[in-house]
Amino acid sequence: MTTSDWLNLNHIWLPYTQMKTAQLPVPVVSARGVHLHLADGRELIDGIASWWTACHGYNHPYVQTKIAEQLKKMPHVMFGGLAHEPAYRLAQRLAAALPGDLNRVFFTESGSVAVEVALKMAVQFWLNQGQRRTKFVSFRHAYHGDTFATMAICDPEEGMHKLFHGVLPDQFVTALPDSKENHNALDHLLAQNRKEIAAVIAEPLIQAAGGMKFHDPEVLIDLKALCDRHGLLLILDEIFTGFGRTGTMFACEQAGVVPDILCLSKALTGGTMPLAATVATNRIYEKFLSDDPEAALMHGPTYMAYPLGCAAANASLDLFESEPRLRQVAAIATQLTDELALCRQAPGVRDVRVKGAVGVVQMDQPVDAVKLRARFVEKGFWIKPFADVIYITPPFVIEERELSGLTRAIEEVLNGR
Ligand SMILES: *Cc1c(COP(=O)(O)O)cnc(C)c1O
Repeated sequence: MTTSDWLNLNHIWLPYTQMKTAQLPVPVVSARGVHLHLADGRELIDGIASWWTACHGYNHPYVQTKIAEQLKKMPHVMFGGLAHEPAYRLAQRLAAALPGDLNRVFFTESGSVAVEVALKMAVQFWLNQGQRRTKFVSFRHAYHGDTFATMAICDPEEGMHKLFHGVLPDQFVTALPDSKENHNALDHLLAQNRKEIAAVIAEPLIQAAGGMKFHDPEVLIDLKALCDRHGLLLILDEIFTGFGRTGTMFACEQAGVVPDILCLSKALTGGTMPLAATVATNRIYEKFLSDDPEAALMHGPTYMAYPLGCAAANASLDLFESEPRLRQVAAIATQLTDELALCRQAPGVRDVRVKGAVGVVQMDQPVDAVKLRARFVEKGFWIKPFADVIYITPPFVIEERELSGLTRAIEEVLNGR
C-alpha cells in the first residue's frame, strides 16, 4: 500500500509533538486482536492498547457487529428532548456495575470533558446550597486532562502543562497521603481551606500519564476518611483505571471506597468510540433537584450519549460478562511480574513494578522516547515510553507468547541488543 500521496506533515498538527523536529508517525492500515498492520506490510504487537482503550483487542467481532447494527438504525440523534435505548440501558448497567449508590450517569465524549463535568457538578453542589467554593485539591503527578479546568488540577511542576502556570486558576496540589507526614500535611491543608474547597480529586491506585505511579488501597481509604472528616467531596478519576486495568472492574473497589463522583472513559467502549461518563451518587444528584430552574446542571455536549458509542459500551460490558477478562488481567499481572523482573539488572533501571495489566520499568533518568520507540518498532512492538518510564498496558486478550515478546523486547533494548 502506498502512503506517498498522503503521509506528510504539511497540514497535520500532532499531539504532544514539537513539530519542528517531528518525525513521520507510523502508518497503520488496519488492526486485529493485539496486532497493528502497517502500510508497508509489517505487523506490530500493541503493548499499550491505543492509549489504554482497546481492552478486548482491536476489531472484536462482537463489538463490531453491535456497532454495525446501531449504525444502520441511527448513528446519532440529539440527547435533548429525544431518548435512545443504548444510552438508557448503558446508564442502568454502569450504575449496577459501580459500587455504592453511584447511580446517576451523565454522558460526554471525552475524558477531559468528563472531569470538567465532575468539577462543575462539585462546584454547583455547593452553589445550590448557597456556598461559593472555587478551589480543588489534587495531587502531585496527577493528570486529569488537557482542557483548561483539567490542566489546572494536573501536577503544576512536573506535569505537561507547566507552561500555563499563572494562566490557570491556582489550585491546591499536594502529596497523596502515603506517609504519616503527607497525611498530616493534607489534613492541615483541608482544615485550613475547607470552606473554599469544592472537592478533592484523585486517580485511584495508579497515576497514569503523570508517570505510572502506584499507591496502595490504604492511601485511598485514608483520603476518603480525610474528605469525610472535613466534609469535602471526593472525585475519583477512573478514566485510566476503570474496566479491569488494575485487576478489579474499578480501582476504588480494592479500597472499598465509594467516591461522590466518578469519571470514566478510555476503555468504556473497548477502544472503539469516543465516549465518557461522569457518575454521581444520590447525595450529589439530590442537591440539583429544586423548583428553581437555575439549580439544574447546565451542560449538554452536542454529541452527548452518542448512540454508536453507547452501543459499543454496552457490547464491551457484555464481553466483560461473557469472556474471562479479569482472569486474563490476573494472568497478565503474574506474567509481567515474572518476566519484567529480568529488567532489574539492566543499566539505568531503578525499579520494576506491576499492578493488574500495567507493567512499568522505572528508569533513573528521562529516556530518549523517540529513539526507544523506533527500536521497539524495529523489533515488531508498539511500546511508547515517556518521561522516565517504559511501560506496557496490553489489551487483556493478549496471549502468553505475545506478552513474552513485549517483555523480552524491553529487556533486549535496555541491554542494548
Ligand atoms: C486520558 C485521561 C484523561 C483525559 O481523557 P481524554 O479522553 O484524553 O480527554 C483524564 N484523566 C485520566 C486519568 C486519563 O488517563
